[in-house]
Formats: sequence, C-alpha cells, structure tokens
Amino acid sequence: MKELLLRAVHSPVGTQAIAQLERVDAWRSQEDWLRVLTYHRVIDPAGDPTVYPRIAVTPQAFAEQMAFVAQHYRVISMQELLDYRRGSCCLPPRALLITFDDGYTDFAEHAWPTLRRHGLPVTLFVPTAFPDSGESFWWDRLYHALMVTQAQEVTSPGGVLPLGSRAERERAFTRLREQVKSLPHQEAMVLVQEICQGLGVEPPPSAILGWDALRRLAEEGVTLGAHTRTHPLMNRLSLEEARAEAVGSLRDLEREIGSALPIFAYPSGGISPEVEAMLAQEGFALAFTTYRKLNRLNLRQGPEWLRLGRINVGPRTSLTLLRAQLLLWSASLARSFA
Ligand SMILES: [Zn+2]
Repeated sequence: MKELLLRAVHSPVGTQAIAQLERVDAWRSQEDWLRVLTYHRVIDPAGDPTVYPRIAVTPQAFAEQMAFVAQHYRVISMQELLDYRRGSCCLPPRALLITFDDGYTDFAEHAWPTLRRHGLPVTLFVPTAFPDSGESFWWDRLYHALMVTQAQEVTSPGGVLPLGSRAERERAFTRLREQVKSLPHQEAMVLVQEICQGLGVEPPPSAILGWDALRRLAEEGVTLGAHTRTHPLMNRLSLEEARAEAVGSLRDLEREIGSALPIFAYPSGGISPEVEAMLAQEGFALAFTTYRKLNRLNLRQGPEWLRLGRINVGPRTSLTLLRAQLLLWSASLARSFA
C-alpha cells in the first residue's frame, strides 16, 4: 500500500494532482491547521559509517525543501505557537513549524545557515545529558559498530544474526533496534553496550553540539527545547523517572542557556497518557510526538497540545512527497501512509 501510494505521488498525474490540491488547500486556509516538520540530521551519509543514514537529509535536499516552504507556507516560531496556545489571537494561514531533534553538530554546520538565509525560525530539541559528555546516542554507536566490525555475526537476545554483507548488517541493525526499543531503558543500554563491546569496535566520536555552540545558536535566534536528559523512551520508565527526565532537561536548558520555553519532544514516540498528564502537571504547554499528523487547532474541545503530530523528513522524503504530506487532504490519508 505504502509503495503504491509513493509511486502514485511521483507519477506525472500524481504531481499534477498535488499542484491542484495545493490550490484547494489555499482556499481552505481560513481553517487553523498547524503543520510541524521534524528533522534529525542534515548531512550526506555517503561513505561515512559513523552516520546512521535513515535520519539524514542531504544539505542539497534540505536547501530545496526550505526554499519551498519559505515560498508556500508561513513558518512560525515556537513563541508564536505558545502565544496562540495561551489565547492570543490567531495563527497565520498555512502555519508551519520547523523542528530538529537531538542536537547534532551538522545542525549548526548545514541546517542553520540555510534556515537563516531564508529567515525561517526553528526549534532544536536537545537531550541535555549529551552536550560536552563525549557520548554518542545508542543508535549511532550500534550502527557504527555493526558497519565497521570485523565480526561475521552478532549474538542477540533473539539469536545469532549474520554480518556477511552490507545488507545483512543493515538487517541486523533493524532487528537489534527493535529489541532495544522493547526493553526498559537501563536494560536496553546495557544490551547496546554488550553488543558493541562484543563486536570489538571503539565508539565513534560524538557528533552532538556542546553547550558553547548551543548558547551561540540560541543567541542567534534558535529556540532550544527539552528532549529529556538521556533520550529514553518515556513509556519505558517509571513515572518518577520520566518526570526527572523531562523536568531535568528543562532545568539543564535554563541553567545553561538562561531561559527555556515549557516545550517538550518525546524521544522516539515513547508516549503514554500517564506521561502526558505528568507533563501537564509540571507546566509543559506544548509537547511533540513522532506521529505523522497535521494538527487541527480550532476544534471545539481544543487540540491535543501535549500530543502534537509531526511530519518526519528523512532520506526518502522527496520534495514531491513532502508537498503531498503537507496537504490538508493528506491529514485524512495519513493513516494509510503510516
Ligand atoms: Zn530524539
């Protein structure tokens, strides 16, 4: 189904249909809809085994996407959304928010210069235990270890996985990632550590921005937001651990940057009603999930401010596909795409 839709979107008829639907969208612009984009890395992963390619968009693709949204959407800042949330008037038609998760160094190198050139506001969600720690995220350590190891197989809780070819290594990563994400956070981190040690590979150098660089970006206009401290799945923690991760992240930002907005992004889609209620209790006003959804704002019962949907942009997101996903029409189609 997904492949079929992708092919339809990229066919000449599909591209024409998107252009038509964009005109219909412009008509419906009096309705309050919020589109949120999520990026992780802007870097060309070709030939670099330290870069996990499934979260990377090339600088060229990013530049093309930003030129498009700058021309066709009204990119708003997080502060504008917070003001709207707190009751001040309205959002502009075709409002779109740009977010980055995880605070990789390539944000400063490739993304921010492009955003600045277009005058586009952006929010960077930072897992605050990582800056200046020298540590890398578990998925980067695991991916790097699997790609460069001399070992021909890896032992996982689910059995032995072959590492003969590049394709087998990619498959092993996918399997292991699922296993890691199914475990309580501490156990998961021990498993990653054991696998990487077993493969005999040194961890890659950290590619995460330090506090000096983050302060500089904040001074230049980047909004920083809480993304936990250690990047656990919030629904794989006790509620008190989840609270310490969310509030701790906000306090780290306040201490290092001087101030921080009450906003939060859930790592890797780990969300539960209990965590959502805890965030509300702790005064968070906006929280962003990884669920693909356009957000309708002027609903009678109000939107789900602590469960906002986002559109993830990855290496397979062509400009055509991005344009299709930004259409209001795709809000109803999102389920069949997901
Ligand atoms: Zn993240």
